[in-house]
Amino acid sequence: MKRAPGSLVLAFGVVLLSAPSRSLPTLPGSSLHSAVAAGIVGRELDSVLESRNGVVTSAAEAASAAEVRRKIQDDEAGTYIGEILLERDSAVVRWPDGQPPLTVWIQPWARVTDFDPAFVDSVQAAFKVWDNVGTPVHFVFVHDSADAQIHVHWIDHFDQPISGRTKWARDDSWAITEANVVLAVHHNEGATLDEESMKALALHEIGHVMGLDHTSDDLSIMAPRVRVRSLADEDRATVRLLYELPVGPIPRD
Ligand SMILES: [Zn+2]
Repeated sequence: MKRAPGSLVLAFGVVLLSAPSRSLPTLPGSSLHSAVAAGIVGRELDSVLESRNGVVTSAAEAASAAEVRRKIQDDEAGTYIGEILLERDSAVVRWPDGQPPLTVWIQPWARVTDFDPAFVDSVQAAFKVWDNVGTPVHFVFVHDSADAQIHVHWIDHFDQPISGRTKWARDDSWAITEANVVLAVHHNEGATLDEESMKALALHEIGHVMGLDHTSDDLSIMAPRVRVRSLADEDRATVRLLYELPVGPIPRD
């Protein structure tokens, strides 16, 4: 896999708990996600942060930073953009502007027990949901993995107690350049995911692909423990705002 110099890969692992013994209330038939979003940070992180801290902000940059902060203040109600920026040390990480539809390859078949080709449909449906949230990001499915910017693979289960994992890489301008999603056919403790759980899991992971991070709000698809099956208004509002902000660190005062 080709990476731009200075790229940084973050990984998000999610636990999808199916155990009915969990005391948390869930929607009928819904699944629980319990997250261990482990940030795996490439060796370049230190130098990236150093150059950020050492940057000299010009007057023009300061003015635009003030505009960005004002925009966030004006528009953050009903979003969890604040949680994301906190997690990202006040950097906006997302796909760059002016892109043609992002190419997505979903592994069509896997030599995995209980793999159901309908899972592919679940994941496609999840991409279509994110395609329609009102951001400039759109997706097109491709048959050749070599042509894809986003890859979705299947595994039997994770050795860690997680059910899905997303990694993305970004370039020096903080724009995402590629993403890889791995989805498990079985929960860590052995139960097979059904199609609806798979779609919910895919919705969550594609949220990471878009550049979202976790939120403490249980009604969001990006909650560490996902109890919902569809996007909430705040998911749509947050991702729209993310794509209205310029890519990169927001300089502080
Ligand atoms: Zn996650």
